[in-house]
Amino acid sequence: MFENLTSRLSRVLDSIRGQGRLTEEQINAASRELRMALLEADVALPVIKDFIDKVKARALGVEITQSLTPGQEFLRVVQQELTATLGGTAEPLNLRTQPPAIILMAGLQGSGKTTSTGKLALWLKEREKKKVLVVSCDVYRPAAIEQLRIVAGNVGVDWFPSQVGQDPVAIAQDALAQARKQYADVLIVDTAGRTTVDEDMMKEIAALNAALTPIETLFVVDSMTGQDAAKTARAFADVLPLTGVILTKVDGDARGGAALSVRQVTGRPIKFLGVGEKSDRLEVFHPERIANRILGQGDVLSLIEETARKVDQEKAQKLADKLKKNKRFDLEDFREQMLQVQNMGSMQSLIEKLPGAQQIQAQLKNVDTEKQMRRTVAIINSMTRQERHFPDLIKAARKRRIAAGAGVEVQQVNQLLRQFEMTRDMMKKVASGGMAKLMRGLAG
Ligand code: GDP
Repeated sequence: MFENLTSRLSRVLDSIRGQGRLTEEQINAASRELRMALLEADVALPVIKDFIDKVKARALGVEITQSLTPGQEFLRVVQQELTATLGGTAEPLNLRTQPPAIILMAGLQGSGKTTSTGKLALWLKEREKKKVLVVSCDVYRPAAIEQLRIVAGNVGVDWFPSQVGQDPVAIAQDALAQARKQYADVLIVDTAGRTTVDEDMMKEIAALNAALTPIETLFVVDSMTGQDAAKTARAFADVLPLTGVILTKVDGDARGGAALSVRQVTGRPIKFLGVGEKSDRLEVFHPERIANRILGQGDVLSLIEETARKVDQEKAQKLADKLKKNKRFDLEDFREQMLQVQNMGSMQSLIEKLPGAQQIQAQLKNVDTEKQMRRTVAIINSMTRQERHFPDLIKAARKRRIAAGAGVEVQQVNQLLRQFEMTRDMMKKVASGGMAKLMRGLAG
């Protein structure tokens, strides 16, 4: 996500960060570099101009010239202005209405509307504990209706049937009646998209909007289309009272132009980011955190939240208690940890949020960590219980059997045992204090 932009901006800021004094010339040069980086990222021109003007005005003012650490101060100004460009503060989804809260999904075909409908349904169900009903008003493509049915089934929310040829407004009204009947908290209405903005589509969605008066009308847009994403959003915003934007396919977007342009071009906040094809790959959009990520400073807050949510809290607490009591850390605990990490989902998404993520990613480029973890778990599974508790008992003949059982080489069994020993030693050292506390912290 945003790799190219991050590496360009990091280079500019690194060259200025440590400076004890900043001359006007240096500030001008850095601003030029920033402008180039944003142009390359495909940010809309008025957005770039506004951003650079603000950074420059502040940089040339007392704020920086009189600071004791002007390089740091410059970075802070860039960070603040970037946050402002992205929308300032996070604008959460608004569900404060008489239930069911209606969410209307708008966007071009292929933008990720149906996928995002599923993601949002899952997010509402799991994170907000809402009862969700979804319906498709795409009466032109039977495949789209079917796709939503499957997605709803996968994420475990209710789906309201509709058919090709029906009137979209009538479908939506029937779905609303059903949502009321079954006391759903939220009704998400997926709509038809065309490949380009056209009048019929606009009329249809405007009619849906008028009939439903949704609390949220979200525009779904593909971030890979750069500043065009913002332009399309603007065209929709002119016709529909959009309340927010879901930016999709951000996982594949190295440039970041859409993310940076949408807010200013449309005046509407980005509310969510789609960061992968799977239904759980949806992130709430926090401008400040994204600004930090873009500047290569990581997003530790999101990382902690994500980790805490996905760790099995009961198991983490158990392990912390066990370590506190100075009990032995064995291969079953080790396996448990691996499984927990696997559970957290893609390592990629976790690594991306670490400060200095780009360097870490470069180092890990050829290492498939997820495959390695699966292999580790397979090796531990092919041991006996006794062996998992007392790995020192495992001799050469057994190593060969275990390797054969897990479909790996003996060398990999040895490697795992060494890795385990190192972890055990580390656990011993920190058991009394740090780690146990850390794990409790995550569990709490
Ligand atoms: P719709 O026509 O707007 O309903 O678009 P779909 O929901 O069918 O999505 C179009 C394609 O984009 C599908 O192949 C999705 O898997 C893919 N897609 C949607 N959102 C994301 C995302 O956040 N990341 C990635 N990598 N792919 C996505």
